[in-house]
Amino acid sequence: MPKLDIHLFPALDDNYGVLIHDAGANVTASIDAPDAKTVEKALRDTGWSLTHILVTHHHADHTQGITALKSTYGCRVIGPKGEAEKIPGIDEALAEGDVYRFGNFDVEVLETPGHTLGHITLYLPAAKIAFCGDTVFPLGCGRVFEGTMDQMWSSVAKIGALPADTALYCGHEYTLSNARFAETVETGNGALKDYIATAKTKRERGEPTVPTTVKAELAANPFLRADRPELAAAIGMAGASAAEVFGEIRRRKDNF
Ligand SMILES: [Zn+2]
Repeated sequence: MPKLDIHLFPALDDNYGVLIHDAGANVTASIDAPDAKTVEKALRDTGWSLTHILVTHHHADHTQGITALKSTYGCRVIGPKGEAEKIPGIDEALAEGDVYRFGNFDVEVLETPGHTLGHITLYLPAAKIAFCGDTVFPLGCGRVFEGTMDQMWSSVAKIGALPADTALYCGHEYTLSNARFAETVETGNGALKDYIATAKTKRERGEPTVPTTVKAELAANPFLRADRPELAAAIGMAGASAAEVFGEIRRRKDNF
């Protein structure tokens, strides 16, 4: 089994950058490019040389480093077909069901629209990791800027349907803020209480709460639990559809 090295680092105010490195094939990818200088520092820290940038969506805090990194490293830029015209320097555009070969690893493409219309999640089954950009966060989900609530629910549920032990890497550290809202949605959820206690300890130590896992989010994240009867009941919407419950809690969070 080939080994994938992963280096997570903070960027900008509250973004995360990630480098993945397949030593066997000598390839390194930056997942998104929040800031060229911070990615370059991460490359110096690891000693890896950038060969790819894999882009989840077009927002500036995920793409503004691409042009400078591509001119320095000549790396290949791969991103979502649905918003390819908004990704600077894109070489290859990927859509639902495509499998991109990165070194010795298959990268499966899941379209996860809602936050943006073309947003994709990159899933590496052999490494048991997924890069879900701004779709799912620990105890939260991205704002629905371009798509509909129904689309965003389908996207969140698609990530929730990955194997339970899949590690989820997302674009931001929002966990304690998300926790304050999640507590108001499902007050009786013991798994949520435990999750929050662990997250607080990590943040007090200056550690990231990313990655999380599908299993942990299914147990505690209200947005991934919109299809649970107990969550619908907790917000006074027993019998409503999962998409309706999801839309209601997303709107509550927007106004929280
Ligand atoms: Zn975004």
